[in-house]
Amino acid sequence: MTDYRPQTIISHPHCLAHDTGGGEHPENPERLRLIHQRLRDGPLASSISEIAAGKAAREDILVYHTEPYLFRLEETALKGQTYIDHRDNQICFESYEAILLAAGGCLTGIDLLEGQGHDQVFCSIRPPGHHAEKAMALGFCFVNNAVVAGRYWQRRYGRGKIAIIDWDAHHGNGIQDAFEDDPNVFYISIHEHPTFSFPGTGYAEEKGLGPGVGATLNIPLPPGADDAMFLRAMSRFVEPALESFQPERLIVSAGFDGHMLDDMSGLSYSTDLYEEIGKRMAGLAARYCQGKILSILEGGYHLEALAASVERYLLGLAKYK
Ligand SMILES: [Zn+2]
Repeated sequence: MTDYRPQTIISHPHCLAHDTGGGEHPENPERLRLIHQRLRDGPLASSISEIAAGKAAREDILVYHTEPYLFRLEETALKGQTYIDHRDNQICFESYEAILLAAGGCLTGIDLLEGQGHDQVFCSIRPPGHHAEKAMALGFCFVNNAVVAGRYWQRRYGRGKIAIIDWDAHHGNGIQDAFEDDPNVFYISIHEHPTFSFPGTGYAEEKGLGPGVGATLNIPLPPGADDAMFLRAMSRFVEPALESFQPERLIVSAGFDGHMLDDMSGLSYSTDLYEEIGKRMAGLAARYCQGKILSILEGGYHLEALAASVERYLLGLAKYK
């Protein structure tokens, strides 16, 4: 018998309808299909509740994105154009609905966390969000799911201090942009050094602006960085920073493209690392947030490594004592 902590997975079948131009694009529906299949067949199957994402309202998205951008995004999808702002950002007729469900799924997750019986919520959604800026799609991202979630947590539930930990291989430029002048939202990112990696932001010198100085922490790692370097960054920088910030709520931008098999980055993490990350994140949530943690899927493009790493991350959360 296992005694895993219950895991809540938020998703929606329509997230699969966001077609990025066939299977050639790295951010394709197979990502979610494989994650869900792996979870259904694996050791966590009986510990998982699956809950359907709700749709984000316009006003939830307009806390960051501009109205003209949102209209442009909707129009671009509905007119049948195949991309927005850059050819990387492939889009189809169904994409706008998927975008609202991806962001909305995070809000569904927050509602569950603020209710009873859900402490560890993973939003298995696409498209991802952390590169999206207020009026620009970037890096397969259209609406910034983590930003929408952070603001919703503050506005709807009065949670003042939010920490967002982003360990996708790439810097979450959009999250940083949204919160860099806000002392109440602490954005922490561990990513491959911007000299070598998309989108070219996230230098250690970027520490926030104006009243937000000190509430942005960028930890760039060199190409080839491995599990030990990641964990050292956690212990030396992330954990002490959170101890002084004392967050009320924790959002994890969970990207899995730092895996050694994933060719979207030069990082060299093993599948085992993700279970350890799960334990660490659960530990932080227990320390500051009554165990409540919202994880949002960002990148991760090697299909088998992605599915295995998501499972191990959730196992790490689920095993936390
Ligand atoms: Zn990434």
